[in-house]
Amino acid sequence: MLLYGKELAERIIGHVKAEAEGLGIAPRLGIVVVGDYQPSQVYVKKKMETAKRAGIEAELFHLPHNSEEKEVLALVQKLNRDGKIDGFIVQLPLPPHISPDKVIEAIDPRKDVDGFHPSNMGKVLLNLKDEVFEPATPSGIMRLIEHYKIPVSGANAVIVGRSNIVGKPIAVMLLHGDATVTVCHSKTRNLPEHTKRADILVVAAGKPFFIKPDMVKEGAYVIDVGTTRVEVEAGNGKPKTSKVVGDVDPKVQEKANVSPVPGGVGPLTVAMLLQNTLKAAKMRKKAGK
Ligand code: NAP
Repeated sequence: MLLYGKELAERIIGHVKAEAEGLGIAPRLGIVVVGDYQPSQVYVKKKMETAKRAGIEAELFHLPHNSEEKEVLALVQKLNRDGKIDGFIVQLPLPPHISPDKVIEAIDPRKDVDGFHPSNMGKVLLNLKDEVFEPATPSGIMRLIEHYKIPVSGANAVIVGRSNIVGKPIAVMLLHGDATVTVCHSKTRNLPEHTKRADILVVAAGKPFFIKPDMVKEGAYVIDVGTTRVEVEAGNGKPKTSKVVGDVDPKVQEKANVSPVPGGVGPLTVAMLLQNTLKAAKMRKKAGK
């Protein structure tokens, strides 16, 4: 079975739109981009297009690549104070001379709709549900797991990758669902020994087709988070083209249930960001601002 996320994401977007209409104010999302990193431009375009469909007004704040860290921090402070912006994100990666940690820490946690601020991460760790913004990709994965009624309690969940935005928070969320969680990374010894025990395997390593069929248990649920753009031969002497591929070899689909790339986790990430933006707008309305 393939674990599709696209249709579910459309359903979430439909709910966000209906709720946004009922609010009487259009939720507003700010997107800060520093520089012209090409993949970020693609992701941001997608976020802006999808926001529009969800009844959310998205505004782009673009700074040049050579902006100083203090200029980025000044924009973050301005957006923190801007009464018309419900929530905003700073698109990562930032140019190397700017500290993402400093920039993320400067965001008002009540506007941190990416859920990357230490305060929101801390609430995720403590399983505090009130006024928290959960990071979009892991909460999208949890929605996918719920949608397909994948049993979590007591399951062996193995995560490959320990990033702050995917690996660590999804490990914590699965732990809160009573899974027995193992987190693997580049220093893990004998990785297949761990992955073969997984009832639920979440792969976020950014290594195309890294997980092979002999690393996966028959019938396991495999969530492929990886997205890497690779060049492909067009044939007939035509110029090469490119496509986005996941971390899981497509042959794994013959023995396990896999979320496809594209069409699996990606659309859910955007949908959850918009759901967080709606939540921020509701919080602002409740506070009478
Ligand atoms: P990341 O910061 O790129 O880190 C990769 C992780 O994989 C690290 O923890 C690294 O271990 C681990 N790793 C690398 N090689 C490994 C190996 N041989 N064996 C075991 N672990 C290994 O991670 P990320 O930001 O979470 O991104 C991962 C992938 O997910 C990327 O392809 C990214 O584009 C994609 N992504 C997709 C979405 C979406 O919406 N679909 C969202 C976010 C990310 P160390 O910590 O030891 O270095």
